[in-house]
Amino acid sequence: QSKELSQARIDYHIALQSLQEHGTRMVCTGKMHTDRICRFDYLCYSSEAEEFVFFHSNSSVMLPNLGSRRFQPALLDLSSVEDHNTQYFNFLELPAAALKFMPKPVFVPDVTLILNRFNPDNLMHVFHDDLLPAFFTMKQYSDLDDEARLVFMEGWGEGPHFDLYQLLSSKQPLLKEQLRNFGKLMCFTKSYVGLSKMTTWYQYGFVQPQGPKANILVSGNEIRHFAKALMEKMNITRQDEAEKDGGSSEQERERDKKDEYIAVFSRSTTRLILNEAELIMALAQEFQMRVVTVSLEEQSFPSIIQVISAASMLVSMHGAQLITSMFLPRGTTVVELFPFAVNPEQYTPYKTLATLPGMDLHYIFWRNSKEENTVTHPDRPWEQGGIAHLEKDEQQRILASADVPRHLCCRNPEWLFRIYQDTLVDIPSFLEVLKDGMKSKPSLKKTKTASTVHPGRVREAHCQTSVQTPNEAKLTVSWQIPWNLKYLKVREVKYEVWIQEQGENTYMPYILPQQNYTFSENIKPFTTYLVWVRCIFNKNLLGPFADVLTCRT
Ligand code: UDP
Repeated sequence: QSKELSQARIDYHIALQSLQEHGTRMVCTGKMHTDRICRFDYLCYSSEAEEFVFFHSNSSVMLPNLGSRRFQPALLDLSSVEDHNTQYFNFLELPAAALKFMPKPVFVPDVTLILNRFNPDNLMHVFHDDLLPAFFTMKQYSDLDDEARLVFMEGWGEGPHFDLYQLLSSKQPLLKEQLRNFGKLMCFTKSYVGLSKMTTWYQYGFVQPQGPKANILVSGNEIRHFAKALMEKMNITRQDEAEKDGGSSEQERERDKKDEYIAVFSRSTTRLILNEAELIMALAQEFQMRVVTVSLEEQSFPSIIQVISAASMLVSMHGAQLITSMFLPRGTTVVELFPFAVNPEQYTPYKTLATLPGMDLHYIFWRNSKEENTVTHPDRPWEQGGIAHLEKDEQQRILASADVPRHLCCRNPEWLFRIYQDTLVDIPSFLEVLKDGMKSKPSLKKTKTASTVHPGRVREAHCQTSVQTPNEAKLTVSWQIPWNLKYLKVREVKYEVWIQEQGENTYMPYILPQQNYTFSENIKPFTTYLVWVRCIFNKNLLGPFADVLTCRT
């Protein structure tokens, strides 16, 4: 025991000495505060000041070294929500010499990921803003492994979904309030600060009305990779789809068909489906399938995912619970219901998720268009859509409107009033929309065989020219197939050729099935043409252009 203690003391001594001599070291990625993640050695935190502290010494490193631009507006975003002014990260600076006068630091030996959760009360936010970004930030830095420590700095308590955050690593995440327990000054031996925004697909409407992000960088493959990893952590086993298709006999497929069911996600406090039983009956009858209901109020999250991960269809009122559609099998259908006066085209976090390339989900929405079928709650508190606190005129205007106009987040009373209505789902119109929507459902076979491999450049592109008459000339372009094509089975291979007369700012595009072509239309003698060639697989998988050819007739 004494050996262990002295060992710990030596480590402590080394750590303290290292901090005093070298100070803090920071190296970051990202040009802007919005795409920055920083790695630190010996980043410290004063629970007294509630500030992170950077200790300067002769050998400390701070890259980027922004000077006071570090405060314009911040070093980085601590949550995955872009440029939100409540989510900024910065640190205070001190000379390492000041350590002599400070409380003895406590060192955290774990590799730590420091971040803000954005809204841990809401399941959609938990997944979109926190779990996916943290998961892939951890994938980006290999020392953020299963032993990593997460620290949540937003200042909230555990929240209702803490179990899910606990799945990210084997160590218990720390909350801001718990940092006090480590004493007045704690220093993270190795830490990363900030979250990758690479996986987020939705913006909540802080600067422009909510909608899909402008430049989505994630595909269904990454979402499904994450979903699978999470299911493994929750000990949910699902018969793999490939396995199901591959080895199964006719009878087995028959049986699978019999086992198919529809999941209805039920909310029991707000935004209710008032005739859920009727809806369930209608679904069962229409599709000749079992219908299973799930609800966050009545079931554990893993048991919900167990159900959803084998369902053929998920039906739910618009709401955070629909984030669970990422656990649906490929080739299944998401049906989202919207209350009266809420335009489905304007609130699309779940539609965007379902329709990400490679997500392979079919998305259908239904909207209540009958005012007599909606139940409003004008007398509730404002955050649940109450409007009693508003001027009478404004209340009248809201009640008379059948469409919530576009608006910013997060307190628009008309939006809250309408989105917290309960709905009596009109069964005939619902079934109509559903039947209609199912007609355009692509078969999974088709999406499965669709390749995602892009062509390489065409090789050995050449041009040859000849002048026929003073007014006519010919331009022959030829090339070899992309190198990767010989290893691929591609349904359709085409080539695109762009021909531009030098100095003009337009070009003529051609799509060709073969590897050479002689152009004579619009080709003039004694003229220089620039020619680009690229390969296209299956109509929409574009390859890169080969180096431009300069061809003089
Ligand atoms: N929630 C629920 N049942 C309800 C109402 C809400 O399970 O009757 C959950 C919901 O899925 C979300 C959280 O409570 O995770 C917050 O719901 P809210 O209506 O505030 O957000 P929204 O669903 O509109 O995103």
